[in-house]
Amino acid sequence: MKRIVSVAAVALSLAGSTLAVAPSASAATCQGARTAVAQTSGPYYKPNAPARAKISQTDTVGTPLVLTGRVLDAHCRPMTGAKVDFWQADGLGHYDNAGYRLRGVQTTDASGRYRLVTVIPGQYPGRTEHIHVRITPRGGTTFTSQLYFPGSTHNDEDGIFSPSMLIKVAQNSPAQMRAAFTFVLPP
Ligand code: FE
Repeated sequence: MKRIVSVAAVALSLAGSTLAVAPSASAATCQGARTAVAQTSGPYYKPNAPARAKISQTDTVGTPLVLTGRVLDAHCRPMTGAKVDFWQADGLGHYDNAGYRLRGVQTTDASGRYRLVTVIPGQYPGRTEHIHVRITPRGGTTFTSQLYFPGSTHNDEDGIFSPSMLIKVAQNSPAQMRAAFTFVLPP
């Protein structure tokens, strides 16, 4: 963390800024990514989801979404072998609470990478569009949060929404969205 803060300080001094910025974990960045913010699991988490990176099926309602990224520790090091458990509503805002549709656990590779194949979740009463995630590093404690979609008109109406957890959309067409998110886990 010290190295990151000092880089930021150098950047500020090079820019000639007179702003006094107090270093903090939330201000630090990791390859452009901010420290992830822990959020509630909500009422629809189910343990023991199947091991799979593709959680949508051919008949799943919603626009296809491929989300990729990495899981990094607080020192920006890739977390290999972390369990990443995603769950979400379908395009109509419905969860499968009887079975395991749109639920799956995958394991990060040697570079800390994950790849989720799913659909864009729908909004449901009181919540903006979001994807839930629980990340359990090898030998570590579980980190729980949610991902959000930039530009959604519902974001500002949702008391849980966090701008720190917005995915970065690389491609968005009626046929498919491609997006990325780097999880930098808090220390
Ligand atoms: Fe939810």
